[in-house]
Amino acid sequence: MMFGLAKKFDGGLKLPPNKHGAEAPSRILPIPESLTYYLTKNIKETHQCIVNIGETVLFGQSIARGLGHQPDIHAAYGGVIEAIGSKAGPYDAPEEQAVIIRTSEYKNVYKHDDKIKNKSDLLKSMGVAGMGGAAFPTGEKVQAAGAPRVWLINGVECEPMLSCDQCLMREQADKLVQAIRYLAAEIMPGRVILALESDKADAVSAMRLALGDVTDIELACLPPRYPQGGEKQLIQTLLGLEVPSGTHAAHLGILVLNVATVMAAFDALAYHLPLTHRLVTVAGQGVSAPGNVWVPIGAALKDVLDFCGYDGAATLRVTVGGPMMGRAVNSLDVAVTKGTSAILALTAADELAVYSAQPCIRCGVCTEVCPARLQPEDMYFNIRAGRLNRTRETGLMDCIACGACAYVCPSEIPLVASFLYAQQICRIEDEQKARAAYIGDLVKARDARLAARRSVRMGKSASREAAARTVDPAAMEKVDAAREKARSKIDK
Ligand code: SF4
Ligand code: SF4
Repeated sequence: MMFGLAKKFDGGLKLPPNKHGAEAPSRILPIPESLTYYLTKNIKETHQCIVNIGETVLFGQSIARGLGHQPDIHAAYGGVIEAIGSKAGPYDAPEEQAVIIRTSEYKNVYKHDDKIKNKSDLLKSMGVAGMGGAAFPTGEKVQAAGAPRVWLINGVECEPMLSCDQCLMREQADKLVQAIRYLAAEIMPGRVILALESDKADAVSAMRLALGDVTDIELACLPPRYPQGGEKQLIQTLLGLEVPSGTHAAHLGILVLNVATVMAAFDALAYHLPLTHRLVTVAGQGVSAPGNVWVPIGAALKDVLDFCGYDGAATLRVTVGGPMMGRAVNSLDVAVTKGTSAILALTAADELAVYSAQPCIRCGVCTEVCPARLQPEDMYFNIRAGRLNRTRETGLMDCIACGACAYVCPSEIPLVASFLYAQQICRIEDEQKARAAYIGDLVKARDARLAARRSVRMGKSASREAAARTVDPAAMEKVDAAREKARSKIDK
């Protein structure tokens, strides 16, 4: 069934697609010599290692348990645990705690416990996380949405150069339809909509063919616009609903999952297969063979880039993620994670690669394109002036770091970098405040406990005194007499 559009989201812009290598068939990365799995994110512990150095692990075996809702981590190939320690980190921290596997074989597959029936527990134990970039725990997301009134399957992939979702839909359209139907039976949504952009003609026709006369999955082909693939923007476009600031799609009864995440969730729920590999776009003028590659999670960026003909001398910077929302990395030892949708080797010929900031001319174009209705130039000035609270009041935390403002800025001001930096500071402050409040609550609870114990003790002694004061003298005489009688028995 085709879908009629509700409304265009606010702001946004048209970007050159630059999807080099998107139409080529996917390739498979040869088994790398080693794999690295991060146990921390921004130095914060997210996983508990459950293997030891020297231990042999099998393909698909759990090597780290996720803390809280975090999904578990599994070995993408068999091998020996070579090290557990610091390794170049993919995020803001230069070093992260990690487990390193020296790979040796891939034939022996670890058999997972099939007793877990709860779907969110199963998604967590099979390591399923959002594969659109944010790597949000899928089990938590599915649980929060309950039986959603609308389930949106996000194949929009609006960012330039990225084509892994397009390639997945083109090559595995039948499996995607099977996965959607299987999950729909589990999730019980009111409506199911698969959204993608109309400029990915190969993916659109593959999905049309695979859907055939299926009527319970609506296909929405959207005119391309950036950042339409953002969760809030997609909901606004398709349903005309606005997700209020500080809330999530689940608050409106909507579940949004990326197409690759749907495939991983299907493998986890239907076959108890953990998430160990993903399709990654490798592009930019710094590689001679761009395209989409099946990569084991944990592979080093260098291994993936070399496989695609990496030219280190010509490359100005390597980013993980797209040219708009991706982050530059300092080391090619950084490992592919579940959220790594792309690795770009950008050269001077890639027009998005070079910035040289000039003063703001207050043209206001950044405000026009902001899909979150923010005023980027004001936020930028407030951040530079150290007025973080003011920036926060004006919506800093609603910024989705889409980069549209920085892209159009004639002064080439690195707006997004400053917003990401300020958001990070705010999150650290929030964590410190939450920790202080938690400790304050513990101290208050302890004081209340001690006060209660004191009052019980005082209450007891007061009641003993009161009891002594109210004793009937005649009764005391009786007690004394009984005591004497008893003692006389002892003396005999
Ligand atoms: S990066 Fe943030 S401020 Fe800039 S356009 Fe995107 S949402 Fe708006
Ligand atoms: S687009 Fe750039 S120059 Fe124009 S107002 Fe925004 S920050 Fe200033």
